[in-house]
Amino acid sequence: MAGVRVLHTGEPSATVVTLPPRGAGAPPVQPRGGGHATARQRRSGTKAGPSKGAPVASATTTEASLSAGPATAPSSHVLVLNATYEPIHVCGIKRAAVLLLKEKAEVIENGDGELHAEHTAMARPAIIRLRTYAPVPRRSRRRLTRRAVFARDDWTCQYCGDHRDLTVDHVIPRSKGGSSEWENIVACCSSCNRRKADRLPHQARMFPKTTPRPPHPSVFIQVACPRIPPSWDYWLDAAA
Ligand SMILES: [Zn+2]
Repeated sequence: MAGVRVLHTGEPSATVVTLPPRGAGAPPVQPRGGGHATARQRRSGTKAGPSKGAPVASATTTEASLSAGPATAPSSHVLVLNATYEPIHVCGIKRAAVLLLKEKAEVIENGDGELHAEHTAMARPAIIRLRTYAPVPRRSRRRLTRRAVFARDDWTCQYCGDHRDLTVDHVIPRSKGGSSEWENIVACCSSCNRRKADRLPHQARMFPKTTPRPPHPSVFIQVACPRIPPSWDYWLDAAA
């Protein structure tokens, strides 16, 4: 099988991937109407704290490495919608091209630029949709990270509402049998963390503003791609 070159303009060198020959031309493009700016403004208007991409003082190296790809090239991320149009994850441009050429996905919206193959060129996808439904892992089984906890809790201390110096708190302390699961961990500023110490919520009279739960898949999309392209807002807002 002949290899088809997919040129990734965001990288210094061309990337070669082996793809099956494709009979038809590029998949149909279905441009979508506006409304992005409004969604974006609404999203950012509710945030007084640090942006999603901003490093947090207490963030560890492990958390920083969770962001996929270079932060300076947000267009290298492609938003993947399930067959039901629910956003499920983010993939790289090469993976998206393979899914499109194998006709396992269709383009919902294109970004800037083109991808070039041996006999064809296609617009660079920004959002794709799987043609068949992909089972989504149960929310409670998705890996718990500090960064995902912060994103779920809107980068806000769940006790005082502060956005600075975030860490995580076990609502029921581990020493009192509390688990390290989504339902027992909240974003908490270090000041509140010291104040609550090793006490139960009723002992400290400190209760989380929101009952902690496993997060929506869109939270993991924000974590994987801190600089969300405006065109994604419509889909992430619709799923929230
Ligand atoms: Zn606090």
